[in-house]
Parts: sequence; C-alpha cells; structure tokens
Amino acid sequence: MNLYLKYRPQTIEELDLSGVRKTLSDIVKANKVAHAYLLTGPRGAGKTSTARVLARIVNCEKNGDKLGEPCNKCSACQAILNGSAVDVIEIDAASNRGIDDMRELKEKIRLAPAILPRKVYIIDEVHMLTTEAFNALLKTLEEPPSHSLFILCTTELHKVPETIISRCVQIQFTKATGEEMKRSFARVIAGEGKKVSDEALEYLSKAVDGSFRDGVKILDQVLSNSDIVEIAEIELIVSGSASYKVTNLANSLIEKDVTKSLELLSEGVVNGVDMNYLIVSLMRGLRDKLLAGEAEIEITKFIFVLDEVARRLATSLDGELLLQVAIVEWCGQTAGLASEKLKVKSEKEEQKKEVVKEREQVLQKEEEKSPWQIMKEKLKSGQSIKNDPPSPVASEGHGDTIDDAIAIFSN
Ligand SMILES: [Zn+2]
Repeated sequence: MNLYLKYRPQTIEELDLSGVRKTLSDIVKANKVAHAYLLTGPRGAGKTSTARVLARIVNCEKNGDKLGEPCNKCSACQAILNGSAVDVIEIDAASNRGIDDMRELKEKIRLAPAILPRKVYIIDEVHMLTTEAFNALLKTLEEPPSHSLFILCTTELHKVPETIISRCVQIQFTKATGEEMKRSFARVIAGEGKKVSDEALEYLSKAVDGSFRDGVKILDQVLSNSDIVEIAEIELIVSGSASYKVTNLANSLIEKDVTKSLELLSEGVVNGVDMNYLIVSLMRGLRDKLLAGEAEIEITKFIFVLDEVARRLATSLDGELLLQVAIVEWCGQTAGLASEKLKVKSEKEEQKKEVVKEREQVLQKEEEKSPWQIMKEKLKSGQSIKNDPPSPVASEGHGDTIDDAIAIFSN
C-alpha cells in the first residue's frame, strides 16, 4: 500500500488542517451533528478523508450518546474504512450528475439505514450536478430524514446554488501552511519508524507548496531506501539534481543578468533538473522574493510568462529553448541597453572603418592611376610634365598601352 493511502487521516487528531481539526472537535464537544455539511476548498486538501472521519464519528459503536474520536476498530468503523458499509454511500457527482441519480438518492434516503445508526451520503464534486439534480437534492435537504447525514464536497463553491449552500454547515478547507505540512509529514515518517532532519522537513514542506499528496509521494520514494530522511535525497527527487539551486537563477533574473541567467539555466539542464520542476520552483521562488520585498512588482509579469511556458512545455519540442527565449525577453531591458551600447560602439567602428576605407580608396586610386593618367591630369591643369616622365615599370599591369599615351597627347 502506498504511504498516501496508508496515512490518510483516520481521526480528528490526524487531520492535516488545524482549522478543520478545530471544527470537528467543536462538533464532537457540542455533541451535535448537523444534517448537511458542505466541505469546500482546493483539491487534495483532505475533504474526502474528513468526510469519512465524520461518517465514522456518527456511526462508531463506541460513540453512543456522547460523540468522540472514531475508534477505527469496531465493525462499523472497519466497514466504513474498507468501503463495505452499505449505509455510507459515496457518489461522484462528476459521473452521476443527472436528475435520475438524485431522484434515486431521494427515494433511498427515506429508507432507514440497514445496519449503522446513520445513513451517510458523501457527494464529491457536488458542483457538477445539473440544475434539475440540484433541485431534487434541495428538496431532500429541505426535509432530511432524521437518520441521514449529507456531506457535500466541492472545489468550486461558486458553482453551487445559494439555496443548497444555505442549508449546509460550511467547512472551509484552506491551503496547508508550512507548519501543518511539517506536522503531517512528521506523522508519516514517525509512523514508518524513520527519522528526519528539521532541515529536510522544512525543505519538503516548501517544495510541495501545500500538496500533502505530492509530499507523501516523495516520502514514499525516500523512505523506501533509507532510515533517515536527508535534504539531499528530497532535493534529488524533487529537482532531479541534489546540487542545483533554483534560488541562484531567481536572483540573476531579478538582476536581469541575461548572461548569468542563461548560464544557470544551462547548468540546470546539464545537471538533469526537470524542466517542470525548474519552472514551478522558479515561479514560487520569485513570488517569495516579491513578498519579501526582494523583487520589484514588475517581476509578476515574468511569473505570468513562466506560467505560459509551463503550459506550453507539454507540447513543445524544446522546453529549454522556450525558457531561454523567455529569459532573454525578460532581461530585455538590460539586454537592450547592452545591445544599444554594442550598436553605438559598432556604429563608431563602422564610421572609423569608413574613414579608413575612404583613405585607402584614395590611396589606392592614386596607386591605380597610371603615370599616363597623372601626366594627363597635370597637362589639363597646366602643370609641366617635363620632369615627370612616365615610368614604363609603373604602367605595367595597369592596362596602359601606347594607344592610351597617344590618346593623352592628342587631347
Ligand atoms: Zn468505532
């Protein structure tokens, strides 16, 4: 069994989010369970696990008149844990979204539970229901049989009709904080009888950015081959390279140092760093620097560009090239200045070259002029040619012939 399934929270105490733990503890303390709950929040935040814990709280044989943590050992708890409890019905609204499904539910909910004290309906992704199905569900929620408990889960609260929301007690699931993640990962590691350094725990919590599932998947790999979880092992799995630091690239991008950024990117690629990981870590790193006041608000533009690059990555033939282009474009201001300087420099050099060329051409022309031509010019300008006879040697190879000489003197 994989660690994620093995360590799914099974009691209130094991739930990942402190706010949700408190809400369930309050329900137990008050010894009062509502007829319908609406669990809202991001994917993977533990809504379904919480729904199942709640189903066991109300049905555990040890919880008679006084509610408490489920024992997870009695036959009721066991049946719910292994999914064989006929009175706990899980419906995925994504695939059972029509009115017939809800009509069937409406009919069945009237029947008393077969074995357990309470009949529990867990409807996942409830926002997927059709309008007709919502209406049918609403009628049931308006007059719920005393033996029923509805637990609706959704990642998209805005798609759930207000009429439904108003009939439920809402439990809000938030993105896990670093502390909450550390607590949950420590539980898994201790449960496996392994050890972890604080540094590694901290790194893992940051790397998976609120996803318990991703974090436990990484632990699954690390724990299978070592007794102590070290930061290098996590880094190796997360990034594909234990030594590569995305922070350095983030810094050079904030400085808009195009050369250094491209070098660091290439270093990452050479070291086998996964391109998806690189981009996502870069986005998170830049966000953290923005929040810490270490980057200008302008960096948000580049974060959006990175998001676009990440989207295109799956269909691109060359992910590295996409990122290179994005980096050059982002550093553009600096790169632009540099190229401007280069342009000015090269323009000046061009001008210099031009002058030199002109001079050379003049000199060359002078050289190219045959003695006959020089003599002709002198004759035209009335200069004496007597002391300046044409040199037969100089005329060699210039195409001057005796005809030219005759032509000159006959002018
Ligand atoms: Zn029990």
